[in-house]
Amino acid sequence: MSGKVYLVGAGPGDPGLFTLKGAACLKKAQVVVYDYLANPELLALAPAQAERIYVGKKGGQHTKRQEDINRLLCDLAAAGKTVVRLKGGDPYVFGRGGEEASALARRGLAFEVVPGVTSAIAAPSYAGIPVTDRRATTEVAFITGHEDPGKPGSTINWASLAGIGSLVFLMGVKNLPHICAQLMAHGKPADTPAAAVRWGTMPRQRTVAGTLADLPKKVEAAGLKAPAITIVGQVVGLRDELLWFERLPLFGRRVVVTRTREQASRLSGQLRELGAEVLEIPTIAVRPPADGQPLAQACQNIEGYDWLIFTSPNGVKAFFNALAEAGKDCRALHRAKVAVIGPATGQALAKRGLKPDLVARTFVAEGLLQSLAEYDLAGAKALLPRAAQAREVLPETLASRGAKVEVVPAYETVAPPEAAKALREALEQGFDAVTFTSSSTVENFLALLDQAGREELIRRSQSGQACLASIGPITSETARRHGLAIAVEPAAYTIDALVEALAAHFAAKADS
Ligand code: SAH
Repeated sequence: MSGKVYLVGAGPGDPGLFTLKGAACLKKAQVVVYDYLANPELLALAPAQAERIYVGKKGGQHTKRQEDINRLLCDLAAAGKTVVRLKGGDPYVFGRGGEEASALARRGLAFEVVPGVTSAIAAPSYAGIPVTDRRATTEVAFITGHEDPGKPGSTINWASLAGIGSLVFLMGVKNLPHICAQLMAHGKPADTPAAAVRWGTMPRQRTVAGTLADLPKKVEAAGLKAPAITIVGQVVGLRDELLWFERLPLFGRRVVVTRTREQASRLSGQLRELGAEVLEIPTIAVRPPADGQPLAQACQNIEGYDWLIFTSPNGVKAFFNALAEAGKDCRALHRAKVAVIGPATGQALAKRGLKPDLVARTFVAEGLLQSLAEYDLAGAKALLPRAAQAREVLPETLASRGAKVEVVPAYETVAPPEAAKALREALEQGFDAVTFTSSSTVENFLALLDQAGREELIRRSQSGQACLASIGPITSETARRHGLAIAVEPAAYTIDALVEALAAHFAAKADS
């Protein structure tokens, strides 16, 4: 039984532009053979056990020659494997996908092609430039800029290209001076609008615009390098009106997200929607407590509690796991009142079919205590399943109101060791903002840095070079205790409000 190779276009970079069919192929892949320009984030769509083979090039250095790649694909298919060959943009647009398909066809091996959104169209589009527009041109040409235009026997027909309305060059950054010179020499007016777009559709997208005459100098001055698309034509003039991507409130901002890997996605997703480049550094991992006995015991006797108080979604999750292990479900909670600290914790409960009797007014322990003040707690038995390390104000105040409070450790948070390396790299590359969603993310973030790193972060936060955003006053206080300056703290202590406040901060900065 021979396998099959899917030649899949990875799209231009923005993972949202990957096709549904491409995703379905990745889901069933046993081997993924991928390129430099295929966004590595897409690899996560393949099964964890799928083999991942990198055959890309960087800086002109091919790790593998094309013939070797062809042979690799053929051998994998002949060995019965389901292979996804993931290529940047569209596989057949200057991607040598045709050669790979031919190699498979010649050996009688099965293959399919899944087209992708090519960078030739997408990069201009995200730079506010439609490749065709009735107001500007009726035709467009895609050209490889790789070929040295000076070399004898060039197959590029400059005379006919000069007469075409929209020209899109791929791989043309190095040759840009020659390309522009040739077009002008063949009659294209020197004041024709032109633009180069690097890393199009990605948060690090950069555009340099000018005319045929001055674009090469501007590109050089800006230090713009490959991978970039160059567009020449009147359509470039529409950019001022049609630009949207580069005008998003967090466009071009590098934001560090410090939540657990499981919790990061919603925050990261919202930041990306606003144009941010997100660096996920999970400075916190959740694991079962050192001693799970108290929680197990509490679940055995769960019918005896008058109040259940949850202060985090993690606590809810751990509690319901323990409840299930005790052989019970939410029916065992029917006589208890349930209080939560905020909407996220409430949602975690709702997922398990429970509606809290009380949500804290403000989403900190003090707010919860305020809301609980309406109830007579004298003699009430309250269970508080929460992090092993947590503040004492909640149980102590409840006890002072006459409640019999049992605090049981439901989970522990630790700093994952692999985060230290990611954090060092982020510091070196630089970032514009860091989001903190709890005191532990602050503590762990600092613990992952060495002394020099901590001092650097403190300096950057105080000078305004790095904007530290905290979800609420307790987290901010923890940060300040360590000398960090907090620039953003939303009025409501939720993820949505945090993202909104961060966007407002950068909008104000851009205006000033
Ligand atoms: N098959 C790909 C093109 C491969 S050739 C596609 O359809 O997009 C490699 C060239 O593609 C690069 O040199 C650059 O010119 C262009 N390119 C690919 N991704 C790009 C991106 N995100 N932004 C700008 N140019 C890109």
